[in-house]
Amino acid sequence: MECPDCSKVNWVVVREKVEIQTRFVDLGTGSPGRKKYTKNWRKEETKKERIIGVRCNSCDLILTDKHLEGREVGIKEIHATKGVLLENQAMNKFLE
Ligand SMILES: [Zn+2]
Repeated sequence: MECPDCSKVNWVVVREKVEIQTRFVDLGTGSPGRKKYTKNWRKEETKKERIIGVRCNSCDLILTDKHLEGREVGIKEIHATKGVLLENQAMNKFLE
């Protein structure tokens, strides 16, 4: 499938990974002034991950439902390990 903007075939899936880190700080009695850290930054176990979408790697267009209007298929699912699932739009309408 070609990109509707630049006609190239160069798709990528974009995901965002947020890493949470913490660092201990000694607030003392809560008096005014700068309070120092007592240890180094430490990674938390949980990493938050979010799929942003399918993007053209040539012109940076993010593919949306609007770009797929009038086509046979739409994006049903973007899975982190399984891949991108395209679904027949006609079947979708039939089931509604
Ligand atoms: Zn493009």
